[in-house]
Amino acid sequence: GGAAEPPPRLVLDLERLSQVPSEKAGPLQRYAATIQSQRGDYNGKVLSIRQDDLRTLAVIYDQPASLLVDQLISWGVLDPDARRAVREDDS
Ligand code: C2E
Ligand code: C2E
Ligand code: C2E
Repeated sequence: GGAAEPPPRLVLDLERLSQVPSEKAGPLQRYAATIQSQRGDYNGKVLSIRQDDLRTLAVIYDQPASLLVDQLISWGVLDPDARRAVREDDS
């Protein structure tokens, strides 16, 4: 992929995430809550996560990271710019 550009920040919209039915979003809701708890970061409207966390979540959801990102964008949980995080080294 294109070399120079840094990866996009992965910033979860926690309010949107809380509105997605938990049958679909439950694993991500629990994952985000765990990160908040580990950081002691409870009051944010958004949560910045690691690029590595996206790979972990793709395993949890048993989906390619690119499809998971598309899903999160369609929920309004991630910004469309987040697609760049998976375009460069798609799995
Ligand atoms: P850790 O990975 O050993 O990180 C220890 C501390 O280093 C973190 O404490 C934080 O102050 C800093 N740190 C590590 N990586 C980053 C980073 O990419 N950006 C920033 N701004 N700081 C970083 P903190 O935040 O209290 O987190 C404690 C532990 O909670 C972390 O230990 C890690 O095990 C877990 N954790 C927190 N946030 C995340 C996350 O987004 N993803 C994952 N996988 N684990 C997380
Ligand atoms: P930014 O990364 O564009 O974040 C904008 C605002 O979104 C932050 O304002 C904060 O209110 C919210 N935000 C983003 N990620 C998180 C999160 O994981 N948890 C919570 N609770 N809120 C989040 P804030 O805190 O005033 O920070 C302003 C700017 O300062 C940030 O803009 C960023 O450029 C820098 N900054 C703050 N914390 C860190 C950090 O841990 N690492 C780095 N590299 N920059 C940071
Ligand atoms: P950030 O703080 O601006 O960090 C940007 C990138 O710098 C991170 O991308 C990571 O590649 C590197 N980095 C920063 N601090 C550390 C560190 O202590 N150890 C290592 N090994 N690398 C570090 P990454 O991992 O994709 O994280 C993206 C954003 O997620 C971070 O932006 C930060 O806002 C948040 N984040 C990730 N892990 C933690 C954490 O443990 N604690 C907190 N408070 N925030 C985290």
